[in-house]
Amino acid sequence: MKRIVARYLYTLETPEPVIDGFVEYEDDGTILRTGQCTDGMSYDNYYDGAVVPGFVNAHCHIELSHLQGKFRKGTGMAGFIDQINELRDSSSREDKIAAIRRWMDILWRQGVSAMADISNCDDSFCIKAASPMYTRTFLEVFGTEPEDCNAVMDSVSGLEAKAREYGLDAAPTPHSCYTMSPELLSAASAAGLKSGYLSYHSQESPEEEEMIMKGSGAMWDNRRRAGMSTPPVTGKPSLMYFLDRLMKVHQPPFDEHILLVHNVCLTQDAVDAAAGILNNVYWAVCPMSNIFIHDALPPVPLMRRNGLKITVGTDSLSSNDTLDMVRELYCLQSAFPDIPSGELYIWACRNGAEFLAMEDMFGTVGPGKRPGLVFVDGLDSAGRLTAESTSMRIV
Ligand SMILES: [Zn+2]
Repeated sequence: MKRIVARYLYTLETPEPVIDGFVEYEDDGTILRTGQCTDGMSYDNYYDGAVVPGFVNAHCHIELSHLQGKFRKGTGMAGFIDQINELRDSSSREDKIAAIRRWMDILWRQGVSAMADISNCDDSFCIKAASPMYTRTFLEVFGTEPEDCNAVMDSVSGLEAKAREYGLDAAPTPHSCYTMSPELLSAASAAGLKSGYLSYHSQESPEEEEMIMKGSGAMWDNRRRAGMSTPPVTGKPSLMYFLDRLMKVHQPPFDEHILLVHNVCLTQDAVDAAAGILNNVYWAVCPMSNIFIHDALPPVPLMRRNGLKITVGTDSLSSNDTLDMVRELYCLQSAFPDIPSGELYIWACRNGAEFLAMEDMFGTVGPGKRPGLVFVDGLDSAGRLTAESTSMRIV
């Protein structure tokens, strides 16, 4: 048994830290007890900063790690998609796998204990299977032409079988409204909902909203120029179009765990529509990625006012300079300084664990759980994150 003490211990059962809090845990990381350090109590280590449970990275594409440093910033979503199409296969499989291995290791050492990861291929499977980090793999599909729907679904079934061979928790998921035919959006949602989980890129950019609401804009023009089919023009936020496609799969309400990723263009009417039929909806923010692509951030005050379950992801190294949960939190804290630190940590740990239905293991520091423990260093005198803050796994 070990006992450590932290200046700020965030168990995250509440947002408030325990000042000079202790944690006792077994060698394998199982938490025995937490509390406030009393005079004369001995301990193995003192951490002069925050100790939090292991992070849950709610959105990553680890297989794109080979794209670090290759993309131009500020291109908007249409320009970003052009770069993905151009560069996705710009490295050999060996180089891709080496980059995945390197970054999975960095994420683990920085304290990520669990991750919702997107895969379009099998490059990352062997590394995720061997990693001490828990991952749920979302086998993402896209395809704009309705007649390709069956072929795309057949292909993802093959990928799902391969993921199962590696022992991964994996199921298909739809990519977004703007890369899929309506038929494929419903078919991929149906396949994913059977597993109990979906992860879906939602309202990421103004171009996406303009495409669905008005049938215009850079993304619409790109698709038309390439001779590809376009999604229906609905006059409503794109999230409502997704909800319509979900309702082709089964009657509402939806008890499955559904993660909506990005939400940069989220509006109150879209929140209301989702809340009306989704009983377990989670909202991932990836602020560094949003700034990279279009210098925008999600409407966090609106999300907080509505009491949404916010989670935090790093997205991929195609739209981020690094994969670092503390950088994402510091970005959020800088843009929205009234968010208490404990609330940010709840987004980065507890809410992600709930999305994965792994809250008995991850997300909070409580007896019997094995969330991992992470030291967040480089705080200011009020215990807030700074530009120098870093995180390091303790156990
Ligand atoms: Zn993504």
